[in-house]
Order: sequence, then C-alpha cells, then structure tokens
Amino acid sequence: EPILKASKLVKIYGESTGEGSTKAIDGVDLSINKGEFIAIMGPSGSGKTTLLQCLSGIDKPTSGEIEIKGRVISSMSGDELALFRRKSLGFVFQEFNLLDSLTVRENIMVPMVLEKKTATDMEKKVNELAHLFGINTILSKYPFKISGGQQQRTAVSRALVNDPGIIFADEPTGNLDSKSSSVIMECFEKIVEELHTTVLVVTHDVFAASYCRKVVFIKDGRIDSYIVRKGDRKEF
Ligand code: ADP
Ligand code: ADP
Repeated sequence: EPILKASKLVKIYGESTGEGSTKAIDGVDLSINKGEFIAIMGPSGSGKTTLLQCLSGIDKPTSGEIEIKGRVISSMSGDELALFRRKSLGFVFQEFNLLDSLTVRENIMVPMVLEKKTATDMEKKVNELAHLFGINTILSKYPFKISGGQQQRTAVSRALVNDPGIIFADEPTGNLDSKSSSVIMECFEKIVEELHTTVLVVTHDVFAASYCRKVVFIKDGRIDSYIVRKGDRKEF
C-alpha cells in the first residue's frame, strides 16, 4: 500500500528570471509503500536534493502531483503544507540540529510541544523512544555532553515523536565516519522493522545505501534504474 505517490514530477529552477533555467527534475514517477526503506542515489547535480525537497513538501514542483498519506500535497498552500510537514512528516538532516540549551528529553519533546500534546502523552512517548534507542540514561543531559551516536539517536527520536509514518533524510551520513554512519543507518533499520516506519534517504554514500532495501538511481533528473535487495546487506 503506497504511503507516497508522485506522478509526472517536474521541477524547473529559474524559469521567471530569464537567465536560463535548469530542469532539475524531469518527469519522475515514484510510488513508495508503507514500511519501505529506500535510498535515492545519483551523482552530484542529478536532482536528489530537489526530489527530496519536492517529495517532502519543502519545495514545490513546477508540475506533477504528489500524494502522501492520502493527501495531495502538491496542491496545498504554503501554510497548509508547513502544518502538514510539522504534524505528519519526520525529518533528519545532515546536521542533527539539536538545541544545546535543551536537555535530550526536551529536544525530543519539541515537536510535541508545538502540537500542544499533554504532558502525560509527551512523557510516555519520550520514554518509549528512549527505550527503543537505548538512550534512557541520558535524557537529562545536554547534547554537548553526549556522544555523537547518542546525538544521532536523539535526532531520530525527535523525528519520530509525532508518529510520522515516514522519515525523510538528506545525506544523513554526509559528515560521518563509518562507525557513526552505521549507528544512524541502524536506527533507520530499527524503525523500519519495529515501527514499520517508511524511511527515504537521499545519499551519495554506497555504505549508507547498502542498508536500504531498495535503491533508486537518478540521473539528469530522471529515474535511471533501481535495485531491490533480497536477503541481508551483503546480497546486492
Ligand atoms: P543533487 O542533490 O543531486 O546534487 P540538486 O537537486 O541539488 O542535485 O540539483 C539539481 C540541479 O538543479 C543542479 O543543476 C543544480 O545546480 C540545480 N539547482 C538546485 N537547486 C537550485 C536552485 N535553488 N536554483 C537553481 N538551480 C538549482
Ligand atoms: P547539496 O549538494 O548538499 O544538496 P548544494 O550545494 O547542491 O547542496 O545546494 C545547497 C543549496 O543551494 C540548496 O538549497 C540548493 O537548492 C541550492 N542550490 C543548488 N544549486 C543551485 C544553483 N545552481 N542556484 C541556486 N541555488 C542552488
């Protein structure tokens, strides 16, 4: 059952400026099922970031339709879209963007505070996720006092608090060594398996992509090919 469907997606930059335009996305059709763990790969400039930004409602496509969880986001207004993103989608960025003035617990709670959840609900959710990721003992610490791996798990917990069902991650292993890269990819693996969350990763990192069950290759703004993994990680 698809959680995300995109059809005939096109994104052209600089159409109105008259200084020459770039067709960053050139007719993409994509359907992503619930619980899928998928990577989008491609060379620099192939349109990966643009595709992620369109699919996740950060940017608007020039034409085409995008439906997430049964809502057509490509026709939403800016305000509607911002609200939908906040309530219904999860994001993990290259920089984890944790707030140093808040504890780990408070960082995880931020999206729930914005949604005006009750204290009891927030407490319950934080404990559930902290347990899942093994960060129960550091909830009262500040981000600069914990390890990189713990920071990553905090960022993933924060992305999950509103039960988004889908997580978008742009180059999540971008600045990381392979040890830290495996921590973050294992977090994603875990939420796919245990929470049946859909995870969509944009990456140029083969190591990161090797965790995903499906890899979509994009080239010049079009889907070039894709591969689906049958068994465990080594069996591409
Ligand atoms: P990737 O993430 O694969 O490196 P991008 O999506 O960033 O690719 O870029 C795809 C193409 O669109 C490139 O030619 C890039 O220069 C162009 N592009 C990306 N963002 C913009 C923008 N805001 N304005 C104009 N051109 C852009
Ligand atoms: P990355 O490769 O990490 O995705 P980029 O350096 O391609 O980052 O892009 C960084 C930002 O600049 C993005 O927001 C992208 O949309 C924008 N951008 C990329 N290429 C262009 C371009 N040719 N003109 C204007 N903005 C661009």
